[in-house]
Parts: sequence; structure tokens; C-alpha cells
Amino acid sequence: MERDSERTGAFTDKLRVPEALTFDDVLLRPKESRVEPDEADVSTRVSTNVELNVPILSAAMDTVTESQMAIAMARQGGLGVLHRNMDVDEVVAEVERVKRADELVIRDVVTADPEQTVREVDKMMDRRGVSGAPVIDEEDQVLGIISGTDIRPYLEVGESDEVREAMTDEVITAGEDVTPREALELMYEHKIERVPIVDEDDRLTGLVTMQGILQRREYGDAARDENGHLLVGAAVGPFETDRAVAVDEAGADVLFIDCAHAHNLNVIDGAREIKESVEADVVVGNVGTREAAEDIVDFADGIKVGIGPGSICTTRVVSGAGMPQITAVAEVADVATEEDVPVIADGGIRYSGDAIKAIAAGADAVMLGSYFAGTDEAPGRVITVDGKKYKQYRGMGSVGAMQSGDGDRYLKDEPDEEEEYVPEGVEAAEPYKGSLESELHQLVGGMQSGMGYVGAETIPAFKERSEFIRVSSAGQTEGHPHDVMITDEAPNYSPSE
Ligand code: 5GP
Repeated sequence: MERDSERTGAFTDKLRVPEALTFDDVLLRPKESRVEPDEADVSTRVSTNVELNVPILSAAMDTVTESQMAIAMARQGGLGVLHRNMDVDEVVAEVERVKRADELVIRDVVTADPEQTVREVDKMMDRRGVSGAPVIDEEDQVLGIISGTDIRPYLEVGESDEVREAMTDEVITAGEDVTPREALELMYEHKIERVPIVDEDDRLTGLVTMQGILQRREYGDAARDENGHLLVGAAVGPFETDRAVAVDEAGADVLFIDCAHAHNLNVIDGAREIKESVEADVVVGNVGTREAAEDIVDFADGIKVGIGPGSICTTRVVSGAGMPQITAVAEVADVATEEDVPVIADGGIRYSGDAIKAIAAGADAVMLGSYFAGTDEAPGRVITVDGKKYKQYRGMGSVGAMQSGDGDRYLKDEPDEEEEYVPEGVEAAEPYKGSLESELHQLVGGMQSGMGYVGAETIPAFKERSEFIRVSSAGQTEGHPHDVMITDEAPNYSPSE
């Protein structure tokens, strides 16, 4: 007769579980190095055809990324991913807003009519926030240019005089192919601040301004497309081919299939259909296992990893499913690296050290939500509670976000009225943090320090050279400030986090 101890069973076998690790479980092993942190090059690929100057993305969440955040992220060399809790028309307008920001040639030119009065034009320029305007006839031919200095009273121009009398009629124009340098040279040579751009029939097609050129110079490390426009990403649902085609046509550079469980086979079918319908790169996510990566790596231009690590996320407690993030990234990266497909680690990053650990585990870039939700560029206003400033931050699977969008990220149907949502996220607030630029400075600077400790000068070299060591809970305690009372807040560390 078989004894109990000899019996093996499928269920008890299940308890022989593999270990899965997350950020606090590991540290980077310090290594011999000649790399000074400031010299570490953090440029990377976010998808097969799109490169960034910093390996950082802002999350596709309605309290994190709209055009203002996307513009700021791209100016700093990263990528903002527009959320999809808005109509297709709105997201198309948002993509266009990012693409128009910082463009050399302004297309939406404020123009003046030669018969308008000086007073009218002065008011119009004031209203539209410009300090000069090309004067054009009915055929869009440039007749002159009028600016604030032409119409100031000390030049003895009456307010009711016509623009044609007050304008400068010797206009310096340039063709469509003008470079920033050539435009600037024209401006210096002729002591002017704006150059109208004209086609071969001398019709106005755009305007280059000194202010625009200087602004582009200020963002020398911006992430731009081949036409010099800022890069932008957009989230699309796995079954939203229409949205995908619309944002693709509007010029989005990377589409992100936005789903909490992209190893759902219907989601993969939807993602494949979208990939075939658009020109932009398509990143597929989220996944958290080797098997999921194997099922999407043949068509995805990037794979996004994260099943439940997010700060506002309750997926793991609600569903009982998930994957600690360092292991998830490493499993996916094992598969993706073989096929040269970039990996993005999405969620759970609280400190710059977490971000660079995600890269060591195999990610090419990281996506963050809570880290950016408290900045000026995130949507929403600053609220004050007990004298402290906050901004709202909510999970896209929270009741509030699902009510104002749809729950299909979590593969849920809209509930009937009497039914209730089953959320997988919470609504919260983040301490107000000021500008995105200073947050990113800390994040990137900390990541570069990590590269310095490991002795790797580039992201690919760092991925190869870095090694992890396992940390005990005593080691974790040792790693944070301990046995002291913190008296001054550091810009990159908050004990409450
Ligand atoms: P964080 O940087 O705040 O830790 O995580 C941001 C990421 O959490 C997002 O990019 C997204 O992948 C994920 N996320 C956003 N909202 C929710 C939610 O309501 N539930 C879950 N499970 N994940 C969410």
C-alpha cells in the first residue's frame, strides 16, 4: 500500500514555487570604474525605430500625461505617452499640439490686413500673444511686416492710420528649405526678429521667429523626429484601431497598446491588427512573463512590462495575480533581447535607484506615473491640505478614471447602472513638486550615478556589465537613512515614499 509520504500530487507540487524579486530585493554590485557619472550616456531606444536621449517615459494616465507633459518630456530628451481617457478628436489635437511646439516654421501665422487700422492690429496682436505680423493681400502675397515698434506712438503713427502706412515694406523672406542657422544669419544681418517663409509664388506659408530659434537651442537634448518636431507617444486600446489610425496620421511616433494583461490572446489579435494598420512603432503591453513575451515579440516594436507594480495599483490584491517587477523585466528581456526588441519597465519606480535597477534587469527605458504626477506639467490643479500642496493622482483602473473613460484596459465591460465597477486602482494625491525639469534632473542624475558605480558608460554596456546582489531586510533598513532625524528634505529622497 502506498504511504502518504510517497504520494506526490499536482497541488503540493504547485507549492514548489520559483522566487520572484522586486526593486527592494536587490542592489547593484559596485564595480571597478573609470566612468564619471556626468559622462554616462543615457540615450536609448524605446522601440525598434525610435531613440530617446534619456531613457524615461511619462505614464499614459489622465493625471500624468497630456500635451503639456509630453512637450516637456520630449524637450528634456524623454517621451510622454498621451493617455486615452479622451475622445479621438481630442487626442489628435493633443498630438498636433506636441508636434507644433518648438517647430522652426510656425504654420499658424497671425497675419494683418493692409486696410486694418493700427489700433485694430495692435489689439489683435495683443490678443494672440505675438509682437509682430506679416501683412498679406488676398492672394497671401507678403506686402510688409508690422511689429510693435512700427506702431508705437512716438513714431507718429496715428491709431486710425492704415497698416499699409505703418508697416515696414522691405520684407526679408526665405524659402521653405531655410535652416535655423540661415534664418538666424538673416535676422542678425537685417536686424529683424522674424522672417516670413514664402513659396515659389511668394505666398506666405509660415514664419520663423528669433524667439523660436533660441527656444530650440535651449533644448539641445530634446527628443525629435527627422523633421525636428518633438517626439510623442499615444496610448490606444487593443481594440481601438480607429484611434490608432487617427493618432498615427496625426504624427504620433510610438503607439502603446494599453492593456493591463496583454497576454490575453484577444488583446494580441487586436494589437496585431493595429500594427498592420499604422506606420508608427507599436509597443505592446503590459506583460510580465517570458511566455507572454514569446507570444508578442514577433510583431511588437517594443514590449512594456508591469503586472501590478504601480503605486496606485491594486491588481495584485484584487486579482491575486501579478509579478514582482525585477523578475518580470528580466524574464521579458531574456526573450526580447534575442530579437533586438526594446523593453520598457512600467510602474513601481519610487527612486532613481529603482529606475537604474530596472535597466540592469534588462529594460531599455522606464515609465513612471507617480514620480511625475506632482509636477506643474501634469494635468490638474494644485490642492492644499493642512498647508501642504498636492496634485491629484489616480490609477486608470480606479473608479473615477473608469467612469470618465472606459474600463477596457482591465478588459472589463461598462457596468450596468446597478452593477458596480471592480476597480484595480485607487485615487490618491501626490505632493506638489514644481517643474518637471528638476524632477527629471534628479532622476537622470541618480541613474548616471548607478552607471558610475558599475563602470558602464552607455545603457547597453550597463545592461551587460551590471550584476545584482540580494538584499536582506536588514540590508534594506541599512540602505535608507537610519537612526537619525532628517532635518532638511533632500530633493531626491522622501522617507514617506
Ligand atoms: P507608478 O509609476 O505610479 O508606480 O506606476 C504607473 C503605472 O501604473 C502606469 O504606467 C500603468 O502601467 C500602471 N497603472 C496605472 N493605473 C493603474 C491602475 O489603476 N491599476 C493598475 N493595475 N495599474 C495601473
